[in-house]
Formats: sequence, structure tokens, C-alpha cells
Amino acid sequence: MDCPYCSYPHSRVIDSRDANDSIRRRRQCLSCGARFTTYERLQPANLFVIKKDRRREEFSRDKLLSGIRKACEKRPLPTGTMDKLVDDIEAELYHLGKQEILSTVVGDMVMERLKRLDYIAYIRFASVYREFADITDLKQEVDTLLSAEASQPAGQLSLLPNEQPRLAKSHRRRRK
Ligand SMILES: [Zn+2]
Repeated sequence: MDCPYCSYPHSRVIDSRDANDSIRRRRQCLSCGARFTTYERLQPANLFVIKKDRRREEFSRDKLLSGIRKACEKRPLPTGTMDKLVDDIEAELYHLGKQEILSTVVGDMVMERLKRLDYIAYIRFASVYREFADITDLKQEVDTLLSAEASQPAGQLSLLPNEQPRLAKSHRRRRK
């Protein structure tokens, strides 16, 4: 488990206790000294993900989390947002009650949530996941987002930081 503050891979366990169906561990980063908490849990059943090339791979919460982390890097999201997102997706996957799930199903679940959370993170994730062929594809996705934002301005962070004042102003005007 990498340190959430400096990404250093090693930490020491300060405290460890049972918490319902998981083990809660208080850790301290061996590099920057920050303290954080991890939860170790039993996977209810083996769940396999079928990749686009038909390869079968065991579902990995860590892998999912690290993909989402990369997309959300340096975005102003509240602490715990990414873990919560992964928890939600994991719960939904197990709730499906299937042993095999297409990777596209998992990817769509992530996209759907990131879109509501943060456009930049969404675009970053989409560009890896959808493998945008060129800048035109990317622009198309951004245009779609922008027109969605124009019709539904509340609650989402602005996509383009430079445009924030103008967008913010127009939002305020609309709300009055
Ligand atoms: Zn650290």
C-alpha cells in the first residue's frame, strides 16, 4: 500500500484491529512519517474479469484503485473519495452475483462515477480506457462534456481552469 501523501511503498503498522468483516491497520509511512489507515478484507468469492483480448484475470481491488488514483492525481477531491468509489464499484460487482465480468462493464462503472465526480479525472481515465485514437476523438469527448455542463451547470468542477471566471459568472447569473 503506497503512502497516500508521498506514494512511498513502505510503511510500518502501528496498530491493528478487527473491524466487522475486515482488519483495520493504522500505518505510518517510512519516508514522510504521515499516518494513514488501511482496511484488509476477505474477498467474498473469486471474481474474474474478462479482458478485451479474452484473457481472464482475477479481479483486483488494488489494480482498480491504482487506475482511479492515476486518473485523479492532483485533483481537488476530498480524502477518501477514491476508496469510496472503489468500495462502491466492488460492492456492485459482487452484488451482480457473477463469477465472470467483462472488463468493459467495470470500465463503464468507473467512467460513470468519475463523470459525476470530476471531468479532468474522467477524461484522463477515458483516454486510457477508451484508447482515444487521436486528438479528434478526445476533442469530441470534451465537447460532449462541455455541452452537458452548459445545460446542467451545478455541482461539477469546471473542465478548463482558464474559463472558470466566465463559467462561474454565467452560473451565478443563471441561479439568480
Ligand atoms: Zn509518505
